[in-house]
Amino acid sequence: MDVLSSEHQQACAPLLQGLWERVRAGQEVILLWPLLPASCAFLAHVLFCAPFLALDALAGWFQRVRSWRIAAGSGPPPPARRWLGCFCAVLCRYLTVVLPASALFQIVRSPALPAQAPSCLQLFVEVCACLLLFDTLFYVWHFSMHRVPWLYRNIHQHHHRHRVPFALAAQDASSTELLSLLLLALSSTWVVGCHPLSEVLFHLLNSWMAVEDHCGYNLPWALHRLLPCLGGAPFHQAHHGLHRGNYAPYFTHWDHLFGTYHE
Ligand SMILES: [Zn+2]
Ligand SMILES: [Zn+2]
Repeated sequence: MDVLSSEHQQACAPLLQGLWERVRAGQEVILLWPLLPASCAFLAHVLFCAPFLALDALAGWFQRVRSWRIAAGSGPPPPARRWLGCFCAVLCRYLTVVLPASALFQIVRSPALPAQAPSCLQLFVEVCACLLLFDTLFYVWHFSMHRVPWLYRNIHQHHHRHRVPFALAAQDASSTELLSLLLLALSSTWVVGCHPLSEVLFHLLNSWMAVEDHCGYNLPWALHRLLPCLGGAPFHQAHHGLHRGNYAPYFTHWDHLFGTYHE
């Protein structure tokens, strides 16, 4: 077993090192540009939402697509103007809040790019550790939002205007909520001590899983079907419908443990 895993590491390591060197080669100025993280985060969010916009359009024609919708009894998918309104709201908050805050953070921490790429095992462990830590911090944050009426009214209520959410709504939240979540994600990578490559992979996965949580579809190939420890869209949509329970963003163990799990 040890021999196998060490052989796998040896085969994987040059691949990551080659990729890392190609990314670093002559691109250091661009990679360390303070506006890059938030710009890429917004772009990734929109790209991840695009397939679900296509599904919403196809749902008008294909019964199979409609059968994947979780809220099949709650009417048709959101119309294009709702997507557009949400896109403008998210873009506006990124330009006015997330972009300046994330740029300031990048300038303050002035990151450096190490010469060595992480090993595959290091990449895997760091990303998993970040996801678990972010999930824990988010659970505490989200639970507090719903238990303290002042916090709910002033920070979290905006996100709950979508009783039946759709992909873009994953980031349709108040400025304070977006800033808090940015801080939780950055703190998770900082506590774990991530390699920049692991950090990028964590942020991309985090963004994809948030989109999946809000997409409104229980797709046969969704992540939570492959990994039963994840709640996925049915889990988070129940939270939007009930306005309580299912406080963790991805995993279900904290909700099971503290009795806040809802089917
Ligand atoms: Zn909530
Ligand atoms: Zn939500």
